[in-house]
Amino acid sequence: MTIFQKIIDREIPADIIFEDELAVAFHDVNPQAPIHVLVIPKKPLRGISAAEPDDASLMGHLMLTAAHIARSLGVDETGYRLVVNDGADGGQSVFHLHVHLLAGRQLTWPPG
Ligand code: 5GP
Repeated sequence: MTIFQKIIDREIPADIIFEDELAVAFHDVNPQAPIHVLVIPKKPLRGISAAEPDDASLMGHLMLTAAHIARSLGVDETGYRLVVNDGADGGQSVFHLHVHLLAGRQLTWPPG
């Protein structure tokens, strides 16, 4: 079981800012920007590479939820970045799919 499953199950604490029947969002414990939120599905997918065609609406829901949270945090005007890391080269460290929402500073490109 991943640490994110434990957050969904309320077995370990997290600063949860959004929850519905499909997703949970909480502040990253090691923020890389003034706003760094993780949006995760309740369904335990290892990563975006494990998603199937049947997950298409769930994937859309995660993106729209991230955009909704960005609006609610007041960064939709200044801008933000959504990131999904997958696998070793992608820098994924927790194997439960998550969308990073990063905002509150000028983000650079390309990422490291
Ligand atoms: P990844 O590297 O897999 O794309 O991102 C995993 C993210 O989860 C990292 O940004 C890391 O800081 C965050 N993270 C890891 N463990 C915890 C935790 O227990 N609580 C919270 N809130 N974030 C975590």
